[in-house]
Amino acid sequence: MAAYIKSILVGTWSLIAGLAITLRFVFKPVVTCQYPHAVPKIPDRYRGHIDFVYDPATCSHKCIVCGMCQKTCPSGCISLEGEKLEGAKKKTLSVYQLNFTTCSLCGLCVEACPTGALTFSKEYNLAGFDEKEYHFDLIKRLQERP
Ligand code: SF4
Ligand code: SF4
Repeated sequence: MAAYIKSILVGTWSLIAGLAITLRFVFKPVVTCQYPHAVPKIPDRYRGHIDFVYDPATCSHKCIVCGMCQKTCPSGCISLEGEKLEGAKKKTLSVYQLNFTTCSLCGLCVEACPTGALTFSKEYNLAGFDEKEYHFDLIKRLQERP
């Protein structure tokens, strides 16, 4: 009988202790979000894949096709090409591809760029079934940006 009463008391006590913990957390600030329904707050220093900075002066990117980012990248994930348009003195960027599957987000390309043309995107929601989905055309991405 004593053991029976003891087990009731222990059970009741653990129930009260559990409810007290729950109650304490009910009044604490919420630190989680209902992903994927809610958009998380992205910290300023978050590093998504690299992207072009939008230049309002030209309504385009600031790339001068120097190739520094490509040369600096330790993973060889940047491929770019430039073409000389008729009458132009300098090359214009025609291809800029990022293979994000091998990018380590080291940031060397961003640091090496002499014109500040590159930045890290705030992209956090990447998921896919095909490796090709992680090959990004940065020129196209910039053009399609709202
Ligand atoms: S962040 Fe690093 S690994 Fe990724 S593209 Fe730039 S240089 Fe290459
Ligand atoms: S380093 Fe900058 S300016 Fe040079 S090719 Fe790369 S993105 Fe363009």
